[in-house]
Amino acid sequence: MKRPTIIAGNWKMHKTVGEAIDFIEELIPHTEETDCEILIAVPFTAIHASSSVAGDSKIAIGAQNMSDQDEGAFTGEISAKMLKEVGTSFVILGHSERRAHFAETDEHIYHKLRRAILEGLPAILCVGESEADREVGKSMDTLKKQLDGALKDLKPKQLQSVVIAYEPVWAIGTGKTATPEIAQETHAQIRKYLAERVGKNWASRVCILYGGSVKPSNIDNLLNQPDIDGALIGGASLDVKAFSQMVQR
Ligand code: PEP
Repeated sequence: MKRPTIIAGNWKMHKTVGEAIDFIEELIPHTEETDCEILIAVPFTAIHASSSVAGDSKIAIGAQNMSDQDEGAFTGEISAKMLKEVGTSFVILGHSERRAHFAETDEHIYHKLRRAILEGLPAILCVGESEADREVGKSMDTLKKQLDGALKDLKPKQLQSVVIAYEPVWAIGTGKTATPEIAQETHAQIRKYLAERVGKNWASRVCILYGGSVKPSNIDNLLNQPDIDGALIGGASLDVKAFSQMVQR
């Protein structure tokens, strides 16, 4: 089963509406020949304008977070319905920065993922171990705990629109990248875990992205690995030249 290659940018809290429009206008001509799926998770405020500018190009615009609730008295929250209305095509859930700075637990992430599935909004579920976990050989224990917690009772059919992003916390924004061998080994273990959970057939269809200091100089070696189906890119996705280069594949 051939899986698509996904190149996803995560802008975090960067770019105003005007800056987002300029970036996407400049990126579009570089996307015409590529076979990969191009995703950019922009700030909430830039979703509507970005998705209008992206139009019917190959670029899909997404969000970096959402509420697990449908609607109600939840000050400051944004629902899946609201996101879809303004042109959101996917949502990132469980990013390590949300876990670390906003106390998101696997339980929260499960409810958000469930909501995204209910609303038909494709999700990128982020998991990743700390440096301390890796040093003591506990990477997979942490990843299993995060995956068990977020996927819980979801059925294989419900998970068809879910992409997993393996993002070792020690590699995010640090300039340290997992070697292609380490990343491949971990991706293969995640796929094995998924196969045990939901069957080999479904597991072989799931796209698993690598994230953590991906840039033009290291993306090719990472993406040449059999279980690495794409990249989730933070810092280097803010630079239109670097991102244009990385989507050419
Ligand atoms: C991220 O934020 O998901 C990420 C991988 O960031 P960076 O590429 O900057 O490490």
